[in-house]
Amino acid sequence: MSLELPTNKKYHVCFTVDFDAFSLWLGPNQVTSPTVLSRGEYGARVGIGRILDLLEKYDIRSTFFVPGHTTDTYPDIIEDIHERGHEIGHHGYCHERPNDLQRDEEEEVIDKGIKSIEDVIGEKPVGYRSPGWDPSQNTIELLLKKDFVYDSSMMADDFTPYRCRVRDKISKEKPIEFGKETDLLEIPVHWSLDDFPHFAFSEEPSKGSELSSPSKVFEIWSGDFDYMYDKLEKGVFTLTIHPQIIGRGHRINMVEKLIEHIKNYREVTFMKMKEVANFWKQNKYV
Ligand SMILES: [Zn+2]
Repeated sequence: MSLELPTNKKYHVCFTVDFDAFSLWLGPNQVTSPTVLSRGEYGARVGIGRILDLLEKYDIRSTFFVPGHTTDTYPDIIEDIHERGHEIGHHGYCHERPNDLQRDEEEEVIDKGIKSIEDVIGEKPVGYRSPGWDPSQNTIELLLKKDFVYDSSMMADDFTPYRCRVRDKISKEKPIEFGKETDLLEIPVHWSLDDFPHFAFSEEPSKGSELSSPSKVFEIWSGDFDYMYDKLEKGVFTLTIHPQIIGRGHRINMVEKLIEHIKNYREVTFMKMKEVANFWKQNKYV
């Protein structure tokens, strides 16, 4: 007879989806080449359906970060994602990098993105992911002003959410003076757990021209998950995937393999980010 010892282990897994579509190319880079734009369109025509089918198959609910431009272009898809029980998070309007914007411009973009989501699903988003993972010094204050509960754009931890600070004093000449911790929770991300750097082809070598094999990426992603499970008592494993990148057959098959790998562990729950934020706050883990 085998004896299962009680465990305090608790892990949350967020397979977050950044549904950029055209905005990724139009916004920061202002590219209008039909072939480049069609890479974004692939995400809406093909990639998003494959992701939704996969999540449905494993009964996983997740968070989709969507720019207002994508929401306004594809309201039916966004409604469908919402009706399937997934969370819709804010991801700018046309993928503007907040760090490139003045405070009033950034606030305008946040308001515009909120309106697009609210118009389609009838609810305001509570989660935010900065386009390009490039928030400005004003972003946290603006998100608090707009009643957001969490952000998922920064990298000061790996598996442990933390409270965002405002008004750090940053200097090259003297030590950093840390500002005040706020109620806004950061659910951290990292480029290594994002499909884009691994798989997004660029014709400019300086921007990376990766076309990794899925087995290499599986090794990296499952390796990080396994580390969290083995070494930490609790944690959040956050993956970031893009329909226009991960939708390709060999890659989506690898994501399924990863889900199968993670599902072997009984202390693991797949969750939406807003559920993770509430859980970690309510249990005073952070
Ligand atoms: Zn994006």
